[in-house]
Amino acid sequence: MTFSTTSTIPINGEIFYQPQDNEVQLFEYAYAHQLPLLIKGPTGCGKTRFVAHMAEKLGRPLYTVACHDDLTAADLVGRHLIGPNGTYWQDGPLTRAVREGGICYLDEIVEARKDTTVVLHPLADDRRLLPIERTGEELVAAEGFMLVVSYNPGYQNILKGMKASTRQRFVALRLNYPDPLLESQILMAESQIEQDLAVKLIELAGSLRRLDSDLDEVVSTRLLIYAARMMSSGMSPLAVCRCCLAEPLSDDISTVEALMDVARLYF
Ligand code: ADP
Repeated sequence: MTFSTTSTIPINGEIFYQPQDNEVQLFEYAYAHQLPLLIKGPTGCGKTRFVAHMAEKLGRPLYTVACHDDLTAADLVGRHLIGPNGTYWQDGPLTRAVREGGICYLDEIVEARKDTTVVLHPLADDRRLLPIERTGEELVAAEGFMLVVSYNPGYQNILKGMKASTRQRFVALRLNYPDPLLESQILMAESQIEQDLAVKLIELAGSLRRLDSDLDEVVSTRLLIYAARMMSSGMSPLAVCRCCLAEPLSDDISTVEALMDVARLYF
């Protein structure tokens, strides 16, 4: 079971998040009306950071679950464990959020096994109920509880997708990679990089993203931040481009070299 409370380092006492559009307001309205939220967007575009920022802003505990194809309803709800004094029940992250009135964030929800939708449905509509089959409990979500799920609608998820009956229970929001000005501000805030270098990196990212290649994914804001941190500590820009922007995207040597050819136009 993979779950954690947020570990993002606060900047100036707040988890730094630079809004792309009206998503902060949208989240606040959804929260105020106790509506669940679905966030779509490519990997590394800021979904997790956004949710952490909002949980902090709203003063709610955050339970983040990175979903994977072995994740079952019991991983979310909880299970009986065996201890020195016999068996005892341990709440899963979803149950904890429901009891405490916290935010439960299920990252890459489409990866989870289908039985998880059974527990999410009554929680995600106006019943706000979590039936715990194994203990016979039926929990009504505490006031501040909010369910937030995300997925990357990239090509690999087209088949998996979310069932209409599930997705129609959520208010949905699409995030993308931030526009160049915003993305360069994020790079500067998240690393010690100088402005001119940040701008160059963002220009390179624009060219790499426009490249007509057979890559599954384009370079993310997360990778650009890695690159900015490595460059700002003095590593040669081209070496950084290779290890942060080319090699992570492809195993194919000719594709990596094609990405490096573009990088050489900038550094
Ligand atoms: P996702 O959950 O979409 O895969 P993350 O939220 O983990 O992506 O974002 C990756 C990194 O990019 C974050 O750790 C953060 O440093 C940065 N980031 C992306 N978008 C923003 C933003 N709008 N404001 C601040 N930081 C951002």
